[in-house]
Amino acid sequence: MIYVPSRMGQLNRRALLRQLQKLGVASRADLAKALGMSQPTAGKIVDELLELEVLEEVDMPATNQRETEAVVGENALRGRPGRQLRLNQSAAQILGIQLGVNETTVAGLSLGVPDRDEWHFTFPTGTSSSSSAKNWEQKLRASAEKIAGEKLLGVVLSVPGVVDESANRVLFSPNIHWTENADLAAIAKRIWNVPVLLVQEERALALGYQLTNPGSDDFLLVDFGEGVGGAIIVDGRPLAGTLPISGELGHTPVLGNHRKCGCGAVGCIETLVSTGGLLESFTAASRRKTKSWAELNAHISTNGIKPWLAQTLDAAAVAIASALNILGLRRVIITGSLTELPAAVMQHLATNIKAGSMWAKFGSVECLSAPRHRAAGLVAVGIDRLVVPEAAPKKMLAGKSFR
Ligand SMILES: [Zn+2]
Repeated sequence: MIYVPSRMGQLNRRALLRQLQKLGVASRADLAKALGMSQPTAGKIVDELLELEVLEEVDMPATNQRETEAVVGENALRGRPGRQLRLNQSAAQILGIQLGVNETTVAGLSLGVPDRDEWHFTFPTGTSSSSSAKNWEQKLRASAEKIAGEKLLGVVLSVPGVVDESANRVLFSPNIHWTENADLAAIAKRIWNVPVLLVQEERALALGYQLTNPGSDDFLLVDFGEGVGGAIIVDGRPLAGTLPISGELGHTPVLGNHRKCGCGAVGCIETLVSTGGLLESFTAASRRKTKSWAELNAHISTNGIKPWLAQTLDAAAVAIASALNILGLRRVIITGSLTELPAAVMQHLATNIKAGSMWAKFGSVECLSAPRHRAAGLVAVGIDRLVVPEAAPKKMLAGKSFR
């Protein structure tokens, strides 16, 4: 018999998984209580998810005797068994792929929330030639041999640009145009033969930040790297418009900037504040041979924020403050290359974001730097759309029988 949970069952499942993501480890009783479900209802969902290997039971860690005794003692007091539940961390169930401008990285991910991004396999993405899709497929296939895929629920693929996630297509990619004409989902499907989901890369970062920082439900995330992009979480959900374009801060024009951007326009902020843009300005300002990122880092440590850098950061701050003012948000999370530079850079950026945002005049505007949690974001998408899909689960549950 194929198990197809009801709509209510789906909602309960999702709620239970979200709760477990938040708690990390919990007993059946903890989950029932936190969700306001009866113990039999929560217990039934837990049993189903254990059968599907989405959850696993864990004994108290034997290495930490004192803590074990404390928890067991507490459990005994409340009259519940000592076995706890968590999202299955024993096997890779989602294949995460991060297609970046320069590099593509691949990792087998379990459903447990990863503390930090760790990628198992890396190869150059390939940016120019028309045969790039074919090259990419070959290199991806080579990585498949190194990552066991027996238990994969699906592949979740992070891509830059304007991505129609529901149609699994890249519509526009200023820095990797070949992905616009390539069916990336079909390529991954040919290799692993499991469902494939495309996720816009900044959205993955925002979902990853949310998952690793429970309680963060309203923020703008801005990532700096080879490009500049953003993603917006409002009321705990990604901001969804009718068109798959949002958070495109990088393509806001800066007056007086004449650099050409990969999007076809002239003057985009991305051409100044991306890693390549910063190095171009640094090289021009020092009137010497091409400068490296390490040299830029050292230069800022020694000399502080020079006018050319201040102007670029001010322009980025204007774009970010505008976004905050329009969205009514007061928290910005900054990830990526700018957070790797001396702290003066983030300080300068934060000061100017605050100067330009209305919320700063009433309450507080928070501007935090954070590590990239893209793998966690891919797991979040996988749990939502592969483990508990919106539509009736088809292939993935086929063959699983329930009593
Ligand atoms: Zn642009």
